[in-house]
Amino acid sequence: MARKKKIEYHSYTEGSIRYMSCMTCGHYEVVGDTATGVKCSNCVMKTMMNQYPLEESKSYKPTGRPAGWHWMNEFVDVDGNVFHKGKEQPKLKGTLKPTVVKPRKITKRRSRHQILLDHHKVRKSELKKAVQKQKDFLNHNIDKG
Ligand SMILES: [Zn+2]
Repeated sequence: MARKKKIEYHSYTEGSIRYMSCMTCGHYEVVGDTATGVKCSNCVMKTMMNQYPLEESKSYKPTGRPAGWHWMNEFVDVDGNVFHKGKEQPKLKGTLKPTVVKPRKITKRRSRHQILLDHHKVRKSELKKAVQKQKDFLNHNIDKG
C-alpha cells in the first residue's frame, strides 16, 4: 500500500471554502488558501493526547499514591514507606502516619459541540443583560435598586 512518494494532500474547493484531506486520516478539513497539509481536529487531538497523555489514561498506575507525590516534601504511603521529594527514607519507615490522599476532582471534558453550545449560551445571556441595561436606561431605572 505505502509507496515511497512525496505525498500531495488532496484538496478541493466548494464555493470559497477550501477543503483538504487530513494528512493522517484522510478526513476533509476546511483550510485556508495557503495550506499545504492539514490535520483534522481529531488527529490534532490524538497527537496532543500522545504528547501530553492524561494521567488517568496512560501514566496512571494504581499505587494509591497521589499524582505528584514525588514532588511532595514528605509523602508516606499506605505501607509506611516515607519519601522526601520522591526519595525513599528507609530509616523513617513506619514512623509516620500514611499521608491522606484527597480524591482528585475529576473535571468532565467538554466535547467540542458542548463548548460551542456553552459559548452560545453565554453570548445569549450577555445579550439579554445588555438589552435589559438598555431598557433600564430608557426607563430611567439605572439608579434604582
Ligand atoms: Zn485526521
